[in-house]
Amino acid sequence: MNKIIVIGGGASGLVAAINAKNDNNEVIILEKNSVCGKKILVTGAGKCNYFNEDLSTKYYSGLDITNLDKIINKNNKKLVLDFFDSLGIIPRIKNGYYYPYSNQAVSIQNALILEAKAKGVKLIHDVIVKDVKYTDKFTILTNNGNYESDILVLATGSRAFNDNEENDIGYKILRKFNHNIVKTLPGLVQLKGNETYFKEWSGIRTDAKLTLFIDGKKVDEETGELQLTNYGISGICVLGLSNLAVRALNNNKKVNITINFLDFLKINNKEDFINFLIERNNKINNRKIGELFDSLLNYKLTNLILKLSKINLNSKYEELNNNMINNLYNNMINFNIDITGYNGFKEAQISLGGLPLNEVNINTLESLKQHNLYICGELYDVNGKCGGYNLAFSWITGLIVGNYLGGLND
Ligand SMILES: Cc1cc2nc3c(=O)[nH]c(=O)nc-3n(C[C@H](O)[C@H](O)[C@H](O)COP(=O)(O)OP(=O)(O)OC[C@H]3O[C@@H](n4cnc5c(N)ncnc54)[C@H](O)[C@@H]3O)c2cc1C
Repeated sequence: MNKIIVIGGGASGLVAAINAKNDNNEVIILEKNSVCGKKILVTGAGKCNYFNEDLSTKYYSGLDITNLDKIINKNNKKLVLDFFDSLGIIPRIKNGYYYPYSNQAVSIQNALILEAKAKGVKLIHDVIVKDVKYTDKFTILTNNGNYESDILVLATGSRAFNDNEENDIGYKILRKFNHNIVKTLPGLVQLKGNETYFKEWSGIRTDAKLTLFIDGKKVDEETGELQLTNYGISGICVLGLSNLAVRALNNNKKVNITINFLDFLKINNKEDFINFLIERNNKINNRKIGELFDSLLNYKLTNLILKLSKINLNSKYEELNNNMINNLYNNMINFNIDITGYNGFKEAQISLGGLPLNEVNINTLESLKQHNLYICGELYDVNGKCGGYNLAFSWITGLIVGNYLGGLND
């Protein structure tokens, strides 16, 4: 009989434990919260976007993307979907994004907890793991006594969302076993700038296309809902660009984002913009310049853009000179923000950095530094975009570890 302890009863830990449990394996989860899978409840704005049909490495960043490609393969994608099917989860799929049909994250959390209990996994809650020692077995030191195991699975996630030191325990243990940890930073996070006009646009939500530049070079773009805030920018499309932006800022690179507020009209260049203004001005006569944007943009935003373009709100289109039209074009289509910072772990959805995949056996996810130590989930330096990519990676790594351990005595 192998005694397996899983530290962390979150997404990956629950999946690893469920699949590792069999008649030959005693499996215990040590979880610091009073319930397992608490973070799952806040995912996908409470709906849990748990998977994406279009799973490929292009949606991830990290040090070792070559090995990631070996993990995100067709077999493992099927394993995840078969696993959720076996739990009775019926998906609701929107543009390739998977949610439980109920649209409630609690369905996923509940299904995992019920399955763990049904399989005989022992869930021990309210236990904070403080340290791990190894002689011929693992000794796990907690705030409530010590535990021993033959096999240890680390699934403690990161300090994203719950920004406290206890959540760094996974990295601490990995360092203790001589692993290298790529510097951890907030990921999928809001971006900050220093502009005085932010207080004027705070609270506005609008659709836009954002382009990210690092040291002047275009590196990525995202389209979607943008939230303008008193510190800078937020919203799904900002989070989507944030992983690259945060890393670049940490490497002292210049980061800026341009916003096209009229992308939904397919206006991408100056000629299109001027034609649009002329047509609009002819169609709805005798309007002030700001009124030409009525029903297209938020009033507050239009007025701010006119102000920043040095255009009087009462001007008519015919009264604008070339300079003003240039300014207006730049601010509507190419609005530039210099990004100078980002919010902290508490506001972040994930942590960038972590354990590089080349420090584990890619087939079993066993540490290459310590026999019988397995790692799954967000502890790796694998950082997905929004869209179900982070949970997908957690499920896959939980399944790889769980299936391997579950097959040990077969
Ligand atoms: C607001 C928000 C929304 C998100 N939305 C999505 C989404 O829609 N789709 C998506 O793919 N991803 C989403 N994510 C990311 C996703 O939640 C994580 O990538 C995923 O939960 C990581 O799984 P994990 O098992 O590695 O860690 P976790 O799920 O965080 O589990 C780690 C567990 O370890 C426990 N633990 C930590 N330290 C200790 C300790 N010292 N002792 C005992 N227990 C400990 C924690 O309490 C926790 O239960 C979102 C994240 C946030 C914060």
